[in-house]
Amino acid sequence: MALIACPECTREISDKAAACPHCGNPRQAAPPAPQEYYFEPTPQPVVVQPKGEGCFLQTLNLGCFLVFALIGIAVLAMIFRR
Ligand SMILES: [Zn+2]
Repeated sequence: MALIACPECTREISDKAAACPHCGNPRQAAPPAPQEYYFEPTPQPVVVQPKGEGCFLQTLNLGCFLVFALIGIAVLAMIFRR
């Protein structure tokens, strides 16, 4: 049993007390038991990554890189054209 300070009257009360015996201030209740939080296990879809997808993603990344490179070249060209 430990003594804690009542948040209302700052007198020492037992941490087991439901309310302060001095001022009757109900102690800060512990967070409610998480029985409301019912975690239903969501079935995780099995992600199957065929080997071809990696190749596709690499191609996509390369395409994105090319697009950004072209944009960068265009911006540089516009800057140096002045
Ligand atoms: Zn109190």
